[in-house]
Amino acid sequence: MFRQRPPARVWASEVASHVIIGNGPAGVVAAETLRRADPQAEITLIGDEAEPPYSRMAIPYLLIGKIGEAGTYLRKDADHFERLRIRLVHGRVKALATDARTVCLVDGRVLAYDCALIATGAHPVRPPIPGIDSANVLTCWTLADARAIAATVTPGARVLQMGAGFIGCIIMESLAARGPRLTVVEMGDRMVPRMMDEVAGAMIRRWCEEKGVSVRTGRRVVAIVAAGEALLLTLDDGETIEVDVLITATGVKPNIDFLAGSDVTVAAGVIVDDAMQTSVAGVYAAGDVAEAVEFGTGRRVVNAIQPDAVEQARIAALNMAGQPATVPGTFVFNVLDTLGLISASFGQWQGVAGGETAQLLDEAEYRYLRLAFAGDQLVGANSIGHTEHIGVLRGLIQGRVRLGEWKARLLANPLQLSEAYLARGLAVAH
Ligand SMILES: Cc1cc2nc3c(=O)[nH]c(=O)nc-3n(C[C@H](O)[C@H](O)[C@H](O)COP(=O)(O)OP(=O)(O)OC[C@H]3O[C@@H](n4cnc5c(N)ncnc54)[C@H](O)[C@@H]3O)c2cc1C
Repeated sequence: MFRQRPPARVWASEVASHVIIGNGPAGVVAAETLRRADPQAEITLIGDEAEPPYSRMAIPYLLIGKIGEAGTYLRKDADHFERLRIRLVHGRVKALATDARTVCLVDGRVLAYDCALIATGAHPVRPPIPGIDSANVLTCWTLADARAIAATVTPGARVLQMGAGFIGCIIMESLAARGPRLTVVEMGDRMVPRMMDEVAGAMIRRWCEEKGVSVRTGRRVVAIVAAGEALLLTLDDGETIEVDVLITATGVKPNIDFLAGSDVTVAAGVIVDDAMQTSVAGVYAAGDVAEAVEFGTGRRVVNAIQPDAVEQARIAALNMAGQPATVPGTFVFNVLDTLGLISASFGQWQGVAGGETAQLLDEAEYRYLRLAFAGDQLVGANSIGHTEHIGVLRGLIQGRVRLGEWKARLLANPLQLSEAYLARGLAVAH
């Protein structure tokens, strides 16, 4: 089912018609790749937000004042898409009819396609807490959100952020730069719990507290009550905190609702094969909406980060244009800057059953390195500080390098990573 290719009729005698649903980084890169691969094709890019295609990743830079809104736009030339003959359609897709090969918009328009790409991204989860719909409970996901944050998160404002995951920590950094009195509440037992082990999570927390952020871990907000202009928050241990603004950063979910009733198989996200094709021939998915196979474990994951979105989109587009291409597997790898402290997590950082680990810790200097091995291969790592090793760690893990006798040396001294990399005949790529 997952290895079928689009029918050849599309290219034999007609101009192919490609419809891309979602105009974030995945949708834009797919459209541009398609244009390069197929100069004749009709390409339609549909997006439901009011602004030109933009990058959510740039929102923190907007919030700290490094760029204006136009700086978040993915392509700066106003006529970029027109020049590439990419038709931009503003509207919301409500259904994909795979038998008829049509995309149906909420406003009644119906667009026919030969190949379609689902690049609808994800949306922030709103935790089911009483009072969550109160004024000044905000997310940080869209440009509209950024405007609301800019208007309310001002110097001295009392702000509480729920959630301290990867995106949460990025958001926290831009909030902190605006000078509020900031509290972070994370329900996990540490900061960045899905990316960092206990030691690293605790170190990031201590760093944030030293920078003036008040942090509660292992706590949940259980009630929100509007109190005049303010919000009175109750935590699960009974503590109450009065704030002016509550920012929720409690995870995201793929935008797949419009696929209900279609033949496209979904789980957490849209399930794709290594060519980014869905269960329906000619329909592809890429980016935060796609659930792809993870490099290393073989499990399916939604790896909601931009580099993956863009690479998946490129591969999907090549296949849509009839040029076979595959993604070797999603490599889960994150580098995070939390108020100036650089941390990174790679692959199976938690370690694997029967595997060994090596650890180096310098609490005072905020430096930490933990390596996880399976046999004589490095399969995961956590690091804080140690930015000089990020490229080597990635190379060793993603390259599945057999370390041989270097494994014992790394267990004895994890800092010999570059030497190990060189000794195994590879160039060091920081
Ligand atoms: C504040 C913030 C900071 C971030 N920082 C980083 C970072 O440092 N590094 C990193 O790798 N990633 C970061 N990310 C994540 C990154 O932005 C996403 O991984 C990336 O945007 C995914 O691109 P995408 O094209 O798949 O989805 P999106 O960018 O979400 O684009 C999807 C588009 O499709 C539209 N759409 C959805 N449903 C429909 C529909 N039914 N009809 C029409 N249009 C629809 C959406 O409105 C949206 O415009 C950050 C995200 C945020 C919010």
